[in-house]
Amino acid sequence: MKDFLAGFSNLETPFYFYDLSILDETISAIRQANRYGYHIHYALKANNNPRILERIRKAGFGVDCVSGNEIRIGLENDFDASHVVLAGVGKTDKEIQYAIDQNIFSFNVESIQELEVINEIATKKGKVANVSIRINPAIDAGTHHYITTGAKENKFGISEDELFGALVQIQAMTNIHFIGLHYHIGSQIMDLGRFKNLAVRVNDIQQKLVAKGVELPHLNVGGGLGIDYENPDENPVPDFETYFKTFHENLELLPGQELHFELGRSVVGQCGSLISRALYVKEGSDTNFLIIDAGMNDLMRPALYQAQHKVISLSGRSEEKKYDVVGPVCESSDTFGKGLMLPETKRGDFLVIRSAGAYGETMKNTYNARELAKPYYSEDF
Ligand SMILES: *Cc1c(COP(=O)(O)O)cnc(C)c1O
Repeated sequence: MKDFLAGFSNLETPFYFYDLSILDETISAIRQANRYGYHIHYALKANNNPRILERIRKAGFGVDCVSGNEIRIGLENDFDASHVVLAGVGKTDKEIQYAIDQNIFSFNVESIQELEVINEIATKKGKVANVSIRINPAIDAGTHHYITTGAKENKFGISEDELFGALVQIQAMTNIHFIGLHYHIGSQIMDLGRFKNLAVRVNDIQQKLVAKGVELPHLNVGGGLGIDYENPDENPVPDFETYFKTFHENLELLPGQELHFELGRSVVGQCGSLISRALYVKEGSDTNFLIIDAGMNDLMRPALYQAQHKVISLSGRSEEKKYDVVGPVCESSDTFGKGLMLPETKRGDFLVIRSAGAYGETMKNTYNARELAKPYYSEDF
């Protein structure tokens, strides 16, 4: 980051900075590790900047969308509709109509009622919609409870019992084509054993389906692979080798069955940083408040789910001091870190909040009527 510092001096802070070499390195690591020919649909909600999407599309990935507008963004950025999947517990009729009109690859359906609505809308249009049914596998992802999605109490997907209870009804629907099962158990999963547990559950459900004579051409195991928020610069690329291998070794695919993934955070998380300047220092006896010009409106994750991003001070001083690094927004949750040991930092010094490439800009907002932080890219410096 120090290499780019000279170029930063004229820019208004806070802003997002993307190191595209990290993105490229990550994308090639994914391509290298995916030697099994699995399909990857990038989860657009992690980051939808055109410059980033362009690199992801060129790598041959599709997109995973959670709204009609995300489908539109994907198509505007030249992703092919045949590589688009649409998830979400609350798809509106308008979004369903749009997705059918665009001939997306598949709906990831989250309830039986939604399936009926898709069937109805497709019938009116004289079309057949591809659907995968999202199963809630009732397993623990071992991550923060706000980003767990595959446990029994979560709103996502339908249970195994419901699937088997509705199987006859599903097979009778004339304008849907039931092509697969979909799973997504949560996000920022660091324990790869959780994915092994998922694979075992998927096998189990698949065997029961096969016993009923149902063989589906596709399986989708979602995303959720975590990144190292503590050591982003030592460990910028997640362990995709072990990740894909875990599925390769544990998942029993039917002959010809295709496997799909929906990676978001692990693709773009480490290439982005939020760059800020120190505004004020309030010295205290126990800790010092370092008030910076980036706030929870620029990066919501710490306030939203107590996420810890590494904060780096570029002050260049050697003496360390203890700081609570806080933003300017009128909320006590607007805090980036408590009791952090940082080089002594003064008004005007730059701070880097690392690992902000995923769920950073896509969640930014104007709360307190603040400006939206702009993106900048390493190749322009
Ligand atoms: C958000 C989301 C993803 C991506 O999750 P990551 O943790 O960013 O990999 C994948 N699938 C679905 C259905 C999602 O909602």
